[in-house]
Amino acid sequence: MKTFPMFLTMTGRRVVIVGGGEQAAQKCRLMLKTEARIDVLADALDVELQSLAQSGRIDWHRGPINPASFRDAALVFVATGCPGLDSCLHMLAKAAGVVVNVVDQPDLCDAITPSIIDRDPVVVAIGTEGTAPVLARQIKTRLEESLEPRLGDLAALAGRLRGFAARRLGPRQRRDLWAWVFNGPLRAQHAQEGDAPVAAAIKAVIASGKVPQKAPAPVALVGAGPGSSDLITLRGVQRLQEADIIFYDRLVDPQILELARRDAERVYVGKAPGCHSWPQDRINALIVSAALRGQRVVRLKCGDPGVFARGAEEAEALVAAGLNYEIVPGVTAASGAAAAVGGFLTERGKTDTLVLTTGRRADAQTRPDWVQHLSADSNVAVYMGIQTAPQIVTVLRDAGLLHCVHVTAVSNAQRADQKVLECPADQLVDEITAKGLVSPAILFLRRTETAEIVARPAALRAV
Ligand code: SAH
Repeated sequence: MKTFPMFLTMTGRRVVIVGGGEQAAQKCRLMLKTEARIDVLADALDVELQSLAQSGRIDWHRGPINPASFRDAALVFVATGCPGLDSCLHMLAKAAGVVVNVVDQPDLCDAITPSIIDRDPVVVAIGTEGTAPVLARQIKTRLEESLEPRLGDLAALAGRLRGFAARRLGPRQRRDLWAWVFNGPLRAQHAQEGDAPVAAAIKAVIASGKVPQKAPAPVALVGAGPGSSDLITLRGVQRLQEADIIFYDRLVDPQILELARRDAERVYVGKAPGCHSWPQDRINALIVSAALRGQRVVRLKCGDPGVFARGAEEAEALVAAGLNYEIVPGVTAASGAAAAVGGFLTERGKTDTLVLTTGRRADAQTRPDWVQHLSADSNVAVYMGIQTAPQIVTVLRDAGLLHCVHVTAVSNAQRADQKVLECPADQLVDEITAKGLVSPAILFLRRTETAEIVARPAALRAV
């Protein structure tokens, strides 16, 4: 960040605006939202500023300007409308050691004014460091739509009742109280009817000492998708934002964790292939105990939580502890990998059967039985197939199919380091080494007699 957002205390502080025209008037309008004292330095004022001066909302000063004119100012805006004059005034203000903003001259600004969504005392500031004003406006429009006009009044009401709540309720109850106020039907009622009925309802709850309880939220088993952070679902993002604690896997894109609340706890419970640093029992126990403590828990898994993710074991542990769970589906790696190469998992009239299988079975002894599904119209997607490629080849050889199977392997699908490999199955092991393909990868196996390979040349070129 070249700039860092802060909320400055403005009550009773001095803001100096130099200039008497439209640019200065714009800055005045902005500063009039605050509780600062506004001094305008100019030889002449436009009609709007004159009227503000007459009503005493700003103080107008004429005459020479020198560094002393800026003394003790919390902020200075230089806005005469004349760039040359503005540069000189900037030097004078800097000589006074104050924070200066020169209109339309970013190089001369110590601070820039953000785009603001004003639901005072709730204020959202958006900045793009001057890179994309159109984007800032777009974000502002979206937020303006999603934050009801009276939200600030509700926040202010909560602020007035905080002391009363602190005297009557414990910390946990207070958290529940405000969650009830801001997440529940009361908020919608306030948007419609304003302060009076809502204030009465909150006061009654605080006085009774009994905060309406929602049933504890179920533990959310959330699919993070295969790689890039924009492949998680909106529901998944919502759960992340509600979570107090997030247990996440090795393959989860770190960017996705950025979507969570800043104060949410993040606990890594990843396993590298073959090395079980976090035994499943321990993960289960952690999730259960966090949920029993009353925390809102998200178990974030790569891809879909229902596909080779041991979700069922976690769900079982939760149910055994009397807890509920919710599955938030995600884009599984096979979907991500097929899409990444412009391929389709099924195709009408060509591929009727899609098999999701694994190169690694739980007991590691028995043979995988996916080979029986390899037919001309099936697409067999093998998860965890890089380390087990030699076994996959052996299975194909034993079944007499080694020379009529084509493999499309996609590693790190939907990530910056995605790699694609196309080869006949008998060359798979060598090609994996030659192309440096690493886990995680999906192998799509297709019988070649009639079936087409998954990747389409046009899409491959685009990747
Ligand atoms: N629940 C996950 C699967 C977890 S098992 C899902 O639904 O996708 C781990 C395996 O998933 C890896 O060995 C690999 O086969 C596959 N995988 C996960 N992310 C992948 C990615 N970005 N590209 C290719 N394969 C991936």
